[in-house]
Amino acid sequence: MDTMQLTIAEARRALDAKEYSALELTEAHLDAIAKKDGEIHAYLEVWADSARAEAKKADEMIARGEAMPLTGIPLAIKDNILIEGRIVSSASKILESYRASYSATVIDKLRAQGAVFLGRTNMDEFAMGSSTENSAYGTTKNPHDLARVPGGSSGGSAAAVAAGMAMGALGSDTGGSIRQPASHCGVVGLKPTYGAVSRLGLMSMGSSLDQIGPLAKSVEDARTLLASISGYDENDSTSLPANSEQRTANRKLRKVIGVPRAFVKSGVETDVLALFEETLARLEKAGYEIRDTEMPNVAYSLPVYYVICPAEVSTNMARYDGIRYGLSVPADTIQHVYTKTRRAGFGAEVRRRILTGTFVLSSGYADAYYRKARAVRQLIREDFRRAFDAVDAIALPTAPGPAFKVGEKSQDPLAMYAEDIFSVTANLSGTPAISVPSGTVEREGKSLPVGFQLIAAHGAEETLFAIGSDVENIK
Ligand code: GLN
Repeated sequence: MDTMQLTIAEARRALDAKEYSALELTEAHLDAIAKKDGEIHAYLEVWADSARAEAKKADEMIARGEAMPLTGIPLAIKDNILIEGRIVSSASKILESYRASYSATVIDKLRAQGAVFLGRTNMDEFAMGSSTENSAYGTTKNPHDLARVPGGSSGGSAAAVAAGMAMGALGSDTGGSIRQPASHCGVVGLKPTYGAVSRLGLMSMGSSLDQIGPLAKSVEDARTLLASISGYDENDSTSLPANSEQRTANRKLRKVIGVPRAFVKSGVETDVLALFEETLARLEKAGYEIRDTEMPNVAYSLPVYYVICPAEVSTNMARYDGIRYGLSVPADTIQHVYTKTRRAGFGAEVRRRILTGTFVLSSGYADAYYRKARAVRQLIREDFRRAFDAVDAIALPTAPGPAFKVGEKSQDPLAMYAEDIFSVTANLSGTPAISVPSGTVEREGKSLPVGFQLIAAHGAEETLFAIGSDVENIK
């Protein structure tokens, strides 16, 4: 069994045809982890025993003829998604031994299908970062070149799927954390419409931006995973009801793709831009019209994101106070418990965001930064709304370059933030976005994957899957 190539769709067929058992499929993935993860370090913890038990249960479901799309499919889960009774650390020291007291809605949904949970994957601490280097537990390596990062923050999930150490994975995407590592590892990554997937049991980073989504080897598999985790959740106040306008966008494909040309040229590496143009040319040959689209405000996405995101981060991180969750450093006063615990528990990037976020929200500065950023965010949403009157989707590179070297950007926060230039705009607008592998570029003798990003209107994930499949097929 070649776990590198095997898709969920193919495994489903083989499991239902009894060509192999769910237990054998899980064992094959545990073997791959044993062989490769010493070098790659995609996992923070592997749950071999419970995975085998879940696989056996899945085999019983299959034997009873009760198989669902993900019954017996081994998956990896990002370390910021809660599973009752399991450690969930967000790759932070502050939650090193914290155990979840309930399961995320997405986990309940996957369990109901009989999916198998292989383990929790490495990430940037509390999902802040673009390389997985901000993990308190060591960097994950890119399976295509071990000297390079897998991207981030869902780098462990992307590397696990790319290296055949999971059939699919869950990640979270606040500003690109599913799509950018998918691009760097050569897999498919989808950020759903804001509110399409429940955030209950996802550790909040930027609450108005966060979404859980799938990483997979094919567009079809990403679609299967999304169908299994999405849906209204009365326990999430931002969850979209099934009949909401933003869920039911039933759009007929016009086969028109918009490209904000002026924006695309900003800071993208030459051969990555060439590959992007080549993919557009192939789509054109396949019957799509490629249309220049004016989106004057998307150019402000990065600065807007790096005001709004830290503002929300500073609020969300306040709950880690040494009393309620995880680490608690004893001290003489309660104030010192707070400060000592936070100093011992948070890494540099988390502190940087708390400081920036507190600053942009502080009285005297909130009008100049936070409220201004919110106003521009509204203009960015308008840009998208107007664009989708004429086109099915907006195409952008997923990231400005391929995977970079470990250590190359970790000392330069602004260079790291620039990595997110093309991804944050979909989070600001709440629109769904997908990254699909679209070829490779050469760096120092290695072939590195590059993703092609498509953004569609709220609720129009099907549009992304349709065009995404075409991108896969015209390679
Ligand atoms: N790289 C972006 C950041 O550091 C996005 C992170 C994410 O999507 N969780 O904020």
